[in-house]
Amino acid sequence: MQPKLPICFFDAKTGILCGNCEARLAKGEISQAEVDASKAVAQLSDKVVELGKVTLKRAYEAKGGYVLEFDPSDLAALRSNPMLVEELENHLKGRVWVVGAGGSERKFLEDIFFPAKVLTVNTVYLPDGEKKTKVIVPARRSERRIGDFDKLREAVMRARGIDLLVETEREVAASLYS
Ligand SMILES: [Zn+2]
Repeated sequence: MQPKLPICFFDAKTGILCGNCEARLAKGEISQAEVDASKAVAQLSDKVVELGKVTLKRAYEAKGGYVLEFDPSDLAALRSNPMLVEELENHLKGRVWVVGAGGSERKFLEDIFFPAKVLTVNTVYLPDGEKKTKVIVPARRSERRIGDFDKLREAVMRARGIDLLVETEREVAASLYS
C-alpha cells in the first residue's frame, strides 16, 4: 500500500524531488512543510502500516510544530496506533498534530486537542478589537497532547488563521468565583 501525498510517492520515499514536484514547490503550489511531511509519511509507511493507506492533503509548519491534514476518513486508522504521532514527531523532529482536512473550525479544534475533549469554543474580542478563539478544555493536565500551548497556538494560526486562547475548566471556574 502507498499513501497518497502532495508529492510523488517515489520522491517522498527517496527524498529527492522530480522536476515536476520541484517546479510545483518553486511556484508555491506545494509547501516545504508538505514536502517534509510527505517524506515522513512515505518513509515510515513500511514500519507504521496505518500510514500506508492514508491521504495526506496538506501540511503546515510553524516554529518546528506541524499540523498534518489527512482525509477525514483516515482519522480512525491514524488514531488506532498510539505510537503513530510519536513516530512522525521523531521523523520530523517537532510536535505533530493530526487533523481531518476541511470541516468546521470546531471540528478542526477537536482534532487538534484529541484525545482531550473540547468543552467550549467561543469567539472573544479583546478591548482593542482583536478577535480570538477561546477553547475550554477539561482541567486534567495529564493529557499529553495539550500542554505545549505556545507551539500549538503558532501551528493553529498557520494552518487555519485561528488566533487561539486556551483555558482549562479550572481556570474558568477560578475567574468566575474569585
Ligand atoms: Zn514528483
